[in-house]
Amino acid sequence: MDNEKNLRGQAILTINAGSSSIKFSVFLLPQLNQILVGQIDDIGGDARFTVRWHSDNNQVSLNWPNATPPKNHREALSELINWLHRTANEIEIIAVGHRVVHGGQKYSAPVIVTEKVMKDLEALVILAPLHEPHNLAGIRAAQESFGAIPQIACFDTAFHRTHSFVEDCYAIPRYFYDQGVCRYGFHGLSYEYIAEQLMTKFPGESGGKVIIAHLGNGASMTALKGGVSIASTMGFSSLDGLPMGTRCGEIDPGVLLYMMQREGLSANEISEILYKESGLKGLSGGLSNDMRTLEASALPEAKEAIDYYVREVKREIGALTALMAGLDVIVFTGGIGSNSVMIRERVLSEMSWIGIDLDRESNRNGGTIISSKASRVLCLRINTDEERVIARHAFELTKKMCGV
Ligand code: AMP
Repeated sequence: MDNEKNLRGQAILTINAGSSSIKFSVFLLPQLNQILVGQIDDIGGDARFTVRWHSDNNQVSLNWPNATPPKNHREALSELINWLHRTANEIEIIAVGHRVVHGGQKYSAPVIVTEKVMKDLEALVILAPLHEPHNLAGIRAAQESFGAIPQIACFDTAFHRTHSFVEDCYAIPRYFYDQGVCRYGFHGLSYEYIAEQLMTKFPGESGGKVIIAHLGNGASMTALKGGVSIASTMGFSSLDGLPMGTRCGEIDPGVLLYMMQREGLSANEISEILYKESGLKGLSGGLSNDMRTLEASALPEAKEAIDYYVREVKREIGALTALMAGLDVIVFTGGIGSNSVMIRERVLSEMSWIGIDLDRESNRNGGTIISSKASRVLCLRINTDEERVIARHAFELTKKMCGV
């Protein structure tokens, strides 16, 4: 089923390529109006293609033209491009912006992808084996499908390259640091979007001591001073810090030694447990990685998983507040941060000692400001938009390079 749309002009395509999915979005220039979002899921299996046009907010599922689903990222992207040509043939994609999870110590800003950049990023696969290869596969596929148009890599680690050595290091022999074993921090594109929103909508407060809690399927928190990241709960990998849907969050490394030495588990088996079987899913006894399911469940394991989650969020707010010697603003974002009334209510009401006074009604009604007028800390709920950040960077770099 194709939707004929009468849109015309130049546009930026954003791509977020995961292990078996490609999320995409199209932004019309020069205003960067988002005209559609969509995703191709289960690539390599029974792939599904869904699109939501901004104009009618209607989610549509599309059939594969020759009835064979794409077998890999390259085929999926080629289907996407063919579909774009058929349904919106007056739209000219002039650049593609890619989400890339790891930019290492070198990349502290988005870059136009060259062969040299690809080589550098390929060397980082070892640091993010579950994400980086798919991000790079997305770039390669887009290069093949689009020919010469600029491909721009936007990094989740870049926002945190402002950390001091003490915020970056681990207390292990120093040569590991020199090899790149340090705290990178992730979700940087989301933090960048929220920091910009704060500057625009809360200019008086945005330069203060701010915590942004990105609570989604992946989760982390970042402390900002003067709009700049000074510390993050995520470290070397995307496992550290808060518990997540299926990832463990902070853990005593002695537990990993136990798994290896007592249980005889291999590195791959441990990786599988820590990335895919832990977090909310693991603690709820395998019930679910989805906070909605846990909130709706009467099982004691579901309640304990939520209790641990809240405990960890509070603990990290305390830790980041200590590092900044105070707290002026806290922002909740991500699927859980934006949508779970209960998690925000529990975290904030249990942190009144820090100067937080929750406005329960505003919190329940989905308000942006969810603290009372009497609260010393301004508490906010803001939806994040990583795609928009990618599109803006892609547009700016393309303008610089080609003078669009
Ligand atoms: P994200 O990775 O940011 O898309 O967040 C996805 C997660 O948000 C899901 O796994 C859910 O756990 C959570 N979520 C989405 N909507 C709600 C909601 N209304 N209440 C609680 N959790 C939610």
